[in-house]
Amino acid sequence: MLPRHSGVAALQKIVTLKPFVHITSSAPIAVETHGGRAKCLQRLIRLGLPVPTTVALSFETVHRIAAGALPDTRSILNEFGAAPLVSVRPSSEDPDWGGPGAILNIGMNDDRHAALSETLGARAATKLYLRFIQAYAVHVARLDPDMFDVPEAPDATALRHVMDIYAEETDEAFPQDPAAQLAEVLRSMARAWEGTTARLLRQAKGAPADAGLGLVVQRMALGLGPAESGAGVMQFVDSATGRRQITGRYRSQSQSRDALKKRKGALYLTRDPRGESLEDRCPEVFAELVRHGETCREKLREEMQLEFTIEAGELRVLDALRAPRSGRAAVRIAVSLAEDGVIPREEAVLRIEPRALTELLHPQIDPEAKRDMVARGIPASPGAARGKIVFSATAAQASESRDEPCILVRRETAPEDIRGMHAAHGILTERGGMTSHAAVIARGLGLPCVVGVSGVAIDDRKKVLTTAEGRSFREGDEITLDGGTGEVLAGAVPMLEPSLDETFQELLSWADAVRDIGIRANADSPSEARLARSFRAQGIGLCRTEHMFFEDDRLTVMREMIFADTPEDRQATLDQLLPMQRADFVELFEIMQGLPVCIRLFDPPLHEFLPSERSAMRDLAESLDLPIAEVTRRVDQLSEFNPMLGMRGVRLGITVPEIYEMQARAIFEATVEASRRGDPVVPEIMIPLVSANREVELVKTRIDGVAAAVRNQTGAEFDYRLGVMAETPRACLRADEIAQHATFLSFGTNDLTQMTYGLSRDDAGRFMSDYVNQGVFAEDPFHMLDVDGVGELLKMGAERARATMPDIVLSICGEHAGNTESIAFCRAAGFDYVSCSPFRVPVVRLAAAHLALRAPRTAD
Ligand code: PEP
Ligand code: MG
Repeated sequence: MLPRHSGVAALQKIVTLKPFVHITSSAPIAVETHGGRAKCLQRLIRLGLPVPTTVALSFETVHRIAAGALPDTRSILNEFGAAPLVSVRPSSEDPDWGGPGAILNIGMNDDRHAALSETLGARAATKLYLRFIQAYAVHVARLDPDMFDVPEAPDATALRHVMDIYAEETDEAFPQDPAAQLAEVLRSMARAWEGTTARLLRQAKGAPADAGLGLVVQRMALGLGPAESGAGVMQFVDSATGRRQITGRYRSQSQSRDALKKRKGALYLTRDPRGESLEDRCPEVFAELVRHGETCREKLREEMQLEFTIEAGELRVLDALRAPRSGRAAVRIAVSLAEDGVIPREEAVLRIEPRALTELLHPQIDPEAKRDMVARGIPASPGAARGKIVFSATAAQASESRDEPCILVRRETAPEDIRGMHAAHGILTERGGMTSHAAVIARGLGLPCVVGVSGVAIDDRKKVLTTAEGRSFREGDEITLDGGTGEVLAGAVPMLEPSLDETFQELLSWADAVRDIGIRANADSPSEARLARSFRAQGIGLCRTEHMFFEDDRLTVMREMIFADTPEDRQATLDQLLPMQRADFVELFEIMQGLPVCIRLFDPPLHEFLPSERSAMRDLAESLDLPIAEVTRRVDQLSEFNPMLGMRGVRLGITVPEIYEMQARAIFEATVEASRRGDPVVPEIMIPLVSANREVELVKTRIDGVAAAVRNQTGAEFDYRLGVMAETPRACLRADEIAQHATFLSFGTNDLTQMTYGLSRDDAGRFMSDYVNQGVFAEDPFHMLDVDGVGELLKMGAERARATMPDIVLSICGEHAGNTESIAFCRAAGFDYVSCSPFRVPVVRLAAAHLALRAPRTAD
């Protein structure tokens, strides 16, 4: 959209005086007063393209028409000479906002039909008349379209037939006065735009409630007649890939976009072994079109699609639209325009909507595919996946070993499902919200995931999923998940594969050159770290170490540690875990090659580590050499009423300090080892769920002690940074104190949202849609940062921390970090970086660049 400029007010005055403007190169036309199509036609005229005479009606005129004040349509028609035939097309400010369909051949009546029968032949004249009657009957008189089908062989009988039906249905003869016809067409288009349905539809596409509609009235270039006449559409890029290539069709003796609708009998544009082409038949017209395409690209700075007509051998360009394009094509087109110097790189960056990159990063459901939606939930991780339903992690692994794509369907997921989640192509859970276990893990893995699919019943034992409408899906039945919309579809729906080509990388490198906030990734495993690197994250902002223990072999040791009765038993399990952790960290440090890695100390919501299934209880009983009843008793003992507010994070670090000590040792030993082999490492250690300064002091003293011991034992010098995860309201309120012992504060907005609202991360999904539908919350606050409430705490925390520690590094690492709105917030609050799921990194790089280009930060 063009920026509003100061001449707009003046233009508005002019159009107030004159309800329509003849479009010439100097006429007062602006996107904001007459719409994009009118402005584009004026540009084509300025570029010397052969555009038929066109008149533009302003937003104000059309608005008045809708209210009943019609302009003098006879004076409009006078602009087109004697016996005019015209078309009317919509011209909204943004073409994406839609508008009523075009109406062609206005002015056709019995006299005109007779005259054209002489010049064009009876068949062509009848076809034109029939088409007009059909369009008028359906769109203006609002009659049933089925009654007005245009027959393949239009003749006088068919014409009489539709005239009779028209008269029967409306009690009036078909109008013969062109001025009256035009008046009714204008009125019906103006009213259609102001109708509630059209308004809601365009508002959903971002149009303001009072968006205006302009209309353009254009002389019909006929496309029918004895000499070569016809119509076609030509564009110069492939809409799917964005590669430069002439595409489109031309059809003799046709109008508008007939060539695209009825491909049979249509000509290719360029020479083609499959059949005749426009290039063969009309080489001069073809060459002229190609020239115009080039001119448009260069001067309109865009890849356009030209709608053209050949009128008795002469080319007319009726319209030019932005060539339609997929997400991947949009990137290639923007990069290629910038590389050719047509637009600056910054503009190429701004032309791609960050959210559109998701389409390139994940498989998508083919937009042409049929969708049989059976349920809907919260879209928790983007992309689409199809596969056979499995109801357990074991079945998912079995599916993987058979090379059969599967969708893991669970009420909710737990750590013991991790292997199955890795094996699955998509995840569906009945419970949960944006930050529940399934959602967080799926986003990390880049797996499409739909959570909180309330209304479905999952029977794990019978292996059946039943939807609210009573449709049943059994293990092995195929379904498709759309993680972008939250839809669950029956069957295996066709997909489009992701594409990360060199133009994608190029565009993002231009984005990096202008953005002014750091971007790290949340990564816990080597594969996520590699992904983070490949998406050029500037480090790891959150490594959730508890996720490192979800693997089968480690989960058991971890459980043994949690179940240990005596310090000796606990130490024995920690001794087993130490080398595993050390190896984990060495690998992460090596992958990140000296980039910062922020390791969060163990933050288990304990319930996530307790076995819940009978088989897991039995495994644990075996490894602890205890009766199963004893394991059950211990699980009951350790179970908490409110585990997310229970023995988590630093609370475990304070009560069972050996765990954090083991982790600190593993981090430091890995630091020494990785620094010896490669880039020097300065690890960042983060304490989770802090709410009091004393917690930090206690943990810091112990970690400093471990650092000193490792320095002593290895003889190696190393540095480390200790930081705090600010995710309780109290940590934000007392950030001045808490920051004293920290070099960084990272805001965990998942827990902070949970605790600020008093909403459970895992349960809120059940009623969130009701809350959003009834407008209690504008959006799910676990998805969209609540700037007013949670944001207030973030600001307060940042200000207070900086008051005592001006150089403290500030960041956010909750799921919100991946959203443009929260990045804008973090930028405005002066945060140093955001840390999001690896798959969000490219989207966030682009979003941050948009923010920097649109609202540059002022120098401090
Ligand atoms: C958070 O609470 O925002 C966070 C990042 O940590 P987790 O989701 O692991 O609780
Ligand atoms: Mg947290």
